[in-house]
Amino acid sequence: MILTDFLSRAASAELVSLRHDLHRKPELSGEERDTAARIAAELERCRPDEILTGLGTHGVAAVYDSGVDGPTVLFRCELDGLPITEISTFGWRSEIDGKGHLCGHDGHMAIMCGLAAQLAESRPARGRVVLLFQPAEETGAGAADVIADQRFERIRPDFAFALHNLPGLPLGSVGVRPGPFTFASEGLAIRLSGRTSHAAQPEAGLSPASVLGRLMEALPGLPETLGHTPGHSLVTLSHARLGEAAFGISPGEADIWVTVRAIDDRLQAELMGEAEKLARRLAEAGGLGVDFDHHENFAAGHNDEAAVARIEAAATALGADRVVVGDPFRWSEDFGRFGSVAKTGLFVLGSGEDHPRLHNPDFDFPDELIGPGIAMFEYIMRDICGAQAPD
Ligand SMILES: [Zn+2]
Ligand SMILES: [Zn+2]
Repeated sequence: MILTDFLSRAASAELVSLRHDLHRKPELSGEERDTAARIAAELERCRPDEILTGLGTHGVAAVYDSGVDGPTVLFRCELDGLPITEISTFGWRSEIDGKGHLCGHDGHMAIMCGLAAQLAESRPARGRVVLLFQPAEETGAGAADVIADQRFERIRPDFAFALHNLPGLPLGSVGVRPGPFTFASEGLAIRLSGRTSHAAQPEAGLSPASVLGRLMEALPGLPETLGHTPGHSLVTLSHARLGEAAFGISPGEADIWVTVRAIDDRLQAELMGEAEKLARRLAEAGGLGVDFDHHENFAAGHNDEAAVARIEAAATALGADRVVVGDPFRWSEDFGRFGSVAKTGLFVLGSGEDHPRLHNPDFDFPDELIGPGIAMFEYIMRDICGAQAPD
């Protein structure tokens, strides 16, 4: 295989072994205590001016302050793993049953630790650099928790950057676009309540079966019914349940779960409102009670033009292969939330065309991306903040 210069930037053995250590001990969203402690210890060795811990639960931030006026530039990675059993057999596979680093956040953390090591060598010439390890990305709670932490004011950035590795794209290729980049998303759990009865006398109860069926039919078609631009929004059925698994009972309850996604927060909120309205209307017509619960709210990710220009300059200068991102991604990234406080730039870094997909049980972050990831972040950081001569 011929490696391009960009891909041939190998990470140190220490960073690869850090990545493998993190991979062995994944922690779930909101529970990242040990991971955060490990990261804080790693950062300590890279001599930042300040380390903040416990940010919005378990977030950790290292601050490199030049002492000279200039912008604050934040780089973000994620601390959490997933509640999925890993099936890989390599030596660094998860040691914790039912939990795995199957989104590559272990690799993103290694990249940020590599950036910290570069900053220890040569600090920014102006402004400040903040390396943020955020908790609970997978549930969409962590970024909001970090921003709500009153200490966030001390690290409030002008620019915020993040990367996500992405299987399906050539290894080491960089993809970015200005404007909408990742969809807004939220889970809606709908509970329909009627009345159970003996299966021999269904007429004595009130089964939600037909309303459940109509909702399962109608909800995914809602964007089209409402005349949304094709590709800008979608409602996906993710789970449904009717009564209990018993032949003797006519059911009195049903659950239907959907995720409601859209290209921006406004359209997503509108679609969510319409989904609830439809469920309420059909439930009432059927004489049923209806309740809603909302879960895992992700803001849409919007890439700022100036931030994208910095990412593109880095990719060009470093000789990275480029992939065209024509349409925004339909998946969501909690990083979108930082768009409310900073000029944000998120880019994807290809994990290989045939690589197992994110959240698949055999996914593993490609170590070849650690060096290129560091190079991208460092270039962007120096581009904005410059470099002091090493001591
Ligand atoms: Zn993920
Ligand atoms: Zn992820």
